Amino acid sequence: MTAGRIIAAGLVLLSAAALAGDRDERGPIIDVHLHAYGSDAFVQPSPNPVTGQVPELRSEAEHMQATLAAMHRYNIVRGYVSNDNSPLEVLRRWRAADPVRIVATPYFEGTPGSPLPAIAALRTEYAAGWLGAMGEIGAQYGGLSADDPKLAAYFALAEELNLPVGIHTGLAAAGTPYRCCPAFRVSLGNPRLLEEVLIRHPKLRLYLMHGGWPYLEDTKAIMNMYPQVYADLAVIDWIIPREEFHDYLRALLRAGLGQRLMFGSDQMLWPEAIGMAVEGIESASFLTPEQKRDIFYNNAARFLRLGEE
Ligand SMILES: [Zn+2]
Repeated sequence: MTAGRIIAAGLVLLSAAALAGDRDERGPIIDVHLHAYGSDAFVQPSPNPVTGQVPELRSEAEHMQATLAAMHRYNIVRGYVSNDNSPLEVLRRWRAADPVRIVATPYFEGTPGSPLPAIAALRTEYAAGWLGAMGEIGAQYGGLSADDPKLAAYFALAEELNLPVGIHTGLAAAGTPYRCCPAFRVSLGNPRLLEEVLIRHPKLRLYLMHGGWPYLEDTKAIMNMYPQVYADLAVIDWIIPREEFHDYLRALLRAGLGQRLMFGSDQMLWPEAIGMAVEGIESASFLTPEQKRDIFYNNAARFLRLGEE
């Protein structure tokens, strides 16, 4: 072993100890919103929109390993991973890599890159027992309102199978209709559009992804009227300006919704987003330690009925 290698080995040991220390101090976290990708996504990966850093990851396997390492580092004991614009098969490999930590959940949006799956085929996959939830349903990208008849069969299936369902609400990358998704419309992200779905499916276990931001009034209105609805804080906890996120989070708490907000990272191509999202919650000085524990773990454990496992 050369000196260089010894020094490198020493650094690895030091950082491993530091990580273990972090993990001990931090209680368990459930991340209800992560994504997996096939290797195609890493041919020319987009930079992290906050840091500007281009990921050095070059394959599905490297991305998965880096994401699992970040989950381990932040004591994320369960992650709900969907296959953003990638084949469902990617999720089988993630689940095989860590069957305790990873819950596989199909992504679809109704675009050419992510078509709505045939309902019979989807039912077969659920019957096989390897998928644990439904969504992210990215209907806004496909120009579909949440109450579009094309989505009705999916909500009916989720209600029948008692599956948690995550639906994209609120924001997307600037210029989305000019790039990937010409049918995308800002107005289709309003959580208010879920009302007819909730009327038709009163037992549906629905959560609003991205907490409905920036539709604060409509998010409060829907969550107030339908107490079964939860929300995740994914992506808004690291992409939007921190002060804006904290104002929004505080407004949801002030409205009495603190027991229904769940941590999500929306880790996409950038595993470091997990730490950035954790920091977004931890830096909210107005939260009590109990409120942080609710967001990081307790609310999701209740919504996902983990106590029943
Ligand atoms: Zn997402």
